[in-house]
Amino acid sequence: MPFCPQCSAEYKSDVLTCSDCQVQLVPEPIQIEITEYGDWCVVESVPNELAANILQGVLEEEGIPVYLRCHDVPYHPGVKGSPTQSEWGDVLVPNNLLPQAQKSLKTYFDSLQEV
Ligand SMILES: [Zn+2]
Repeated sequence: MPFCPQCSAEYKSDVLTCSDCQVQLVPEPIQIEITEYGDWCVVESVPNELAANILQGVLEEEGIPVYLRCHDVPYHPGVKGSPTQSEWGDVLVPNNLLPQAQKSLKTYFDSLQEV
């Protein structure tokens, strides 16, 4: 059963987005995987997979577990959104590590601007 990563509501298998939160539902196996860290929240939205992988590397270097959620086109898993879609997806971290993750990313972005 897919469920909503925000409100944890469960849906029938043909439902793709939460009608309350307007977020993409995730398959149940991921819930089991991610609940060991409690709630996950978006620390940054990224425009492409490369950016997602870079931020994942930055955070994992700090010992922060990372979960990448990409905005697939409904009914076509694995197919990315249209080229006009500005965001590739979201970088999620455990709720309790969010302040640490935001600080790590800020340090990272600041270092980019200094170069
Ligand atoms: Zn929801």
